[in-house]
Amino acid sequence: MSIQKGVGLKRRTILKSIPALSAVSAAGQFFTGTAQAQEGLEYGYTICDNCNQMPMCGIRFQKQGNTIVSVGNWKEHNGKLLCNKGLATLQRLYNPNRLLYPMKRTNPKGSEDPGFVRISWEEALAAIASNLKAIKEKYGPEKILVFCGDPKEPRPAAMRLARYLGTYHYATESSVACRKGSLLAEQLVYGSEYSGGGCGPKTKSYMVMATNGAWSKPHGWWNMINAAKKRGVNIIVIDSRRTKTAELATVHLQPRQGTDAALGAGICRVLFEEGLYNKEFCDQWVHGVEEYRSYCKDFTPEKTEELTGVPAELVVKAARLYAQGPGSFALTSQSLSHSTNGVNNARALLNIPAILGFVDIPGGALFGVGPKGYIVHD
Ligand code: SF4
Repeated sequence: MSIQKGVGLKRRTILKSIPALSAVSAAGQFFTGTAQAQEGLEYGYTICDNCNQMPMCGIRFQKQGNTIVSVGNWKEHNGKLLCNKGLATLQRLYNPNRLLYPMKRTNPKGSEDPGFVRISWEEALAAIASNLKAIKEKYGPEKILVFCGDPKEPRPAAMRLARYLGTYHYATESSVACRKGSLLAEQLVYGSEYSGGGCGPKTKSYMVMATNGAWSKPHGWWNMINAAKKRGVNIIVIDSRRTKTAELATVHLQPRQGTDAALGAGICRVLFEEGLYNKEFCDQWVHGVEEYRSYCKDFTPEKTEELTGVPAELVVKAARLYAQGPGSFALTSQSLSHSTNGVNNARALLNIPAILGFVDIPGGALFGVGPKGYIVHD
């Protein structure tokens, strides 16, 4: 959606519609009574980009002329319910303080009134370029830090700018480093980015690896895992914390922080020793199985308990339940790899679905889902 501030919009209309939206959405309906009563309203569809690339929840909106007057859930879209950020789209879109044009300070920094005046994009770009050149000539390019926050889409362009300026100082608030450890683990185990997915109708077991999706994932995930619980899916939560998600767990494993690699090896040992792993799949697709099997031998349930603090019987129970499958999983993007032995923590847990052959199968976590036919949680 792209719309200019205040075009034909009465502020009162927005204020009236926003509180009602939450209530109406909670009841599974789309639009406010206020909006429906108005003349000349049209429906439209878009996706929410408040989380930038993901998860693109669906928005069904109403517009009057060029003005959006309400947003609500696009029921047929997979995102299902908008979160508060999504529902607050109109507040963002029409906030009177929203920056819509380049503004230039005319009073010195520290002045009570910065004296911002609107300038054209040409003027803004010329001023920035000339200041950067002046700094580069006077102090050297490495004195310039190029920083790009969120949203993430401009980051490649900002990196190129840093490179052309000749500075190696490029920074962001997240994402360049935060998910790297988990990503590396996924690539080592699966050869590709693969942090799991949701539970499909054929999923029988689900392993939640150090993520509290109840709070950190979109609404759809919480709906999905609750529905899975009702269907009798075995939910194994690995998380040191007692979380909202862990309340749904059939088995909750709480390793000491930074010891997930030992827990992963302990669970794999049970799968190997009890013949629960998928030998046929491993023979055909997995490298290094015998080496890993031999490595895991030391991680008896008792030894695993000693290393991780997870009771031996729960290690065995979790392995047996998860092996019933077909199983899916959800790996945290960050918390496992932001601790001692980071990459290997994630890697050892990812080995569990790998040796069970829960890879890209019905009921498992699927590879390669994208915006077309977009399936995140179903
Ligand atoms: S989770 Fe919320 S902010 Fe993110 S895309 Fe969905 S509605 Fe928008």
